[in-house]
Amino acid sequence: MQTQVLGYPRIGSQRELKKACESYWAGTSGYKNVLQVGKNIRQQNWELQKNLGVDLIPSNDFSYYDQVLDHSLMFGAIPQRYNAVAIQPDHAELDLYFAMARGYQRNGLDIIAMEMTKWFDTNYHYIVPEFYKNQTFNLFSTKVIDEFYEAKQLGIITKPVLIGPVSYLLLGKEKEAGFDKIDLLKNLLPVYIELLTRLKALGATHIQLDEPFLVLDLSEKEKQAYQTAYQQLRKVFPELNLILATYFGALEDNLELACDLPVNTLHVDLVRAPQQLEELIHKLPQEKTLSLGLVDGRNIWKNDFENSIAIINQATAALGKERVWIATSCSLLHSPCDLDNEKNEAVLTAEIKQWMAFAKQKVAELTTLKQLTNNEEATLAKDKLAQNVKAQQSRKTSPLIHNEKVKNDVANITESHDQRSNAFAKRRILQQEALNLPSFATTTIGSFPQTTEVRSWRAKLKKGSLNQAQYDQLIAIETEKAVRWQEEIGLDVLVHGEFERNDMVEYFGEQLSGFTFSQNGWVQSYGSRCVKPPIIYGDVYRPEAMTLKWTNYAQSLTSKYMKGMLTGPVTILQWSFVRNDQPRAATCTQIALAIRDEVVDLEQAGIKIIQIDEPAIREGLPLRKAEWQNYLDWAVKAFRISASGVQDETQIHTHMCYSEFNDIIDSIAAMDADVITIETSRSQMELLNAFADFKYPNEIGPGVYDIHSPRVPNKDEMVELLKKAALVIPKEQLWVNPDCGLKTRGWDETKKALIEMVEAAKTMRNN
Ligand code: GLN
Ligand code: ZN
Repeated sequence: MQTQVLGYPRIGSQRELKKACESYWAGTSGYKNVLQVGKNIRQQNWELQKNLGVDLIPSNDFSYYDQVLDHSLMFGAIPQRYNAVAIQPDHAELDLYFAMARGYQRNGLDIIAMEMTKWFDTNYHYIVPEFYKNQTFNLFSTKVIDEFYEAKQLGIITKPVLIGPVSYLLLGKEKEAGFDKIDLLKNLLPVYIELLTRLKALGATHIQLDEPFLVLDLSEKEKQAYQTAYQQLRKVFPELNLILATYFGALEDNLELACDLPVNTLHVDLVRAPQQLEELIHKLPQEKTLSLGLVDGRNIWKNDFENSIAIINQATAALGKERVWIATSCSLLHSPCDLDNEKNEAVLTAEIKQWMAFAKQKVAELTTLKQLTNNEEATLAKDKLAQNVKAQQSRKTSPLIHNEKVKNDVANITESHDQRSNAFAKRRILQQEALNLPSFATTTIGSFPQTTEVRSWRAKLKKGSLNQAQYDQLIAIETEKAVRWQEEIGLDVLVHGEFERNDMVEYFGEQLSGFTFSQNGWVQSYGSRCVKPPIIYGDVYRPEAMTLKWTNYAQSLTSKYMKGMLTGPVTILQWSFVRNDQPRAATCTQIALAIRDEVVDLEQAGIKIIQIDEPAIREGLPLRKAEWQNYLDWAVKAFRISASGVQDETQIHTHMCYSEFNDIIDSIAAMDADVITIETSRSQMELLNAFADFKYPNEIGPGVYDIHSPRVPNKDEMVELLKKAALVIPKEQLWVNPDCGLKTRGWDETKKALIEMVEAAKTMRNN
């Protein structure tokens, strides 16, 4: 029996990679530093896994920005617009790579970034490969080979991890008409063959090929592509151990296809889809090994050893020990690094901590599970088993988790809880009378730059070198500056800037009961951006008002409208680590009631416009279409519960980030927010078509500029986008705003961009 890790977090346990990249981008350190920090992290990860006894240690799971982008660079799938960057002197490859990820505005060049989207149903974002009609591939970067060699120099023979050829193509987007990306397989396979040939020559014996699309609905053509791809690879490499990795769901109707692909090992996710084991045991061909994904890569709870042992025994009884591996359910990319770094009991109590495991602990769990299911070694680990059983027991019975009042409130939810008094058409008239806003009203999505300075105040408050009053004073001044500045440039609906918030979910989690936190539980979200998801361990309720103080203060500074700014229940759920002892829908409803109370309090305080952000609604969609409606029903209902406690005159906004809305537009409409702001600029307003086709009745603010890049747009570009928008959406329905919050941007670029944006709105009004 072997143990394998599908991938390890690569940001570094102290977020070293984030710091190195950001300082390189800011020009304060050189590219050599970035490369060195990357090298150190790789070495630490490999040695840690080796010391913990992992049999199959991954390489090429590291990335300076994103693993999909790594593949695009490796395969030479580099959009032409970057040619000019490629020929810049010096460290061209790294700069080219970052240019593809982030855009490039230097040396007289101005090139936009590649698109970014969610990685399956996670909160990780990848850079979408761009494919063109005459797309060819060649081995442009040798990253996977270099990293294998690097580990080998350290005396560790790793298992290189590649995104499988079919999934790589399916992750991409056709940028022009007239071809089907899946037909590019024949051009792509030779590059895989070249890569594997070189890896094999260097001594690689196992190759992990990630094919997560096998847990999604596939067309016949895509299924055929799987066969073609793997038959060819098998033919060229009869002796390599090819590991086909699936995760995030059940194989279902693709189970036979996956079982029959000519590989040596099939990896399956038994955390998300334990039910598939039975069928796999029966259908897996004789010569193949089954890798059991038992240790949850997506959550922070300790593995339930008794449960896992039962599953392993079931598998080994049927297949024999030789044909069973124990593995993480997916890459540990989605887990924080190390629970041992959580030393502050005031943040994470010992009682809750004992229920948890981060990446390093998960790796150790693999080895322990292997020992526990091996007759000779089982006694060595019996203390660990006893401890684990004790921890599981304590979690099931802890009074920390269950709250009677919350359970009652949920039971008392009635029909009217998710209904506004009147339909939108009526509300709209009442709101127009009450608010009297201009056409093409301008606003922003909520946050203004969280400068190093602002963040340093929070750090100082935590350390005690600032007291609460001093901290509040600084936040108040920053808020006032932002308010004055928004008034000055003539924005219509202002925001307070969210300076007091570390993060849009954590800020609420910290004030809600049932949540706890880590100090260092960072998980990569995109590029150098990391999030530290709150941990929902128990019943959720709101002990007191959460946003009133700062919203009231900001409103008191101005006669313009100040938007109340809240995070919605689905997003709070989606961006937290969630308890696994009750359905997600139940946890979401509890959060919805808490947010509803806050919305009502804001209204009572005189706030007329309240935004409930739900950027995560789409990413919560199950991977399989058949399960969508059930999810959408409870998610939409949760949003409506949170939004429906107010008068018709109070305008409810919601905001969502880059998403394709085509297939869920009816549910977005069912949320019935008075105004929705969405990210559309990178798609050149293409994403708006879903709303247009649906004849979406409520108001919409399609983002007019990309906030993920420091590039400053000019007024004319934004006017062009707004004109495009006005072609498909009646102009009375349109708002003008950036794609998303501005917390990651600097003030300089933010100011310039928003001044241009306000001018763009004026131009539209005068048209
Ligand atoms: N109000 C939030 C902000 O501006 C919204 C962020 C988001 O949607 N991701 O930061
Ligand atoms: Zn957003």
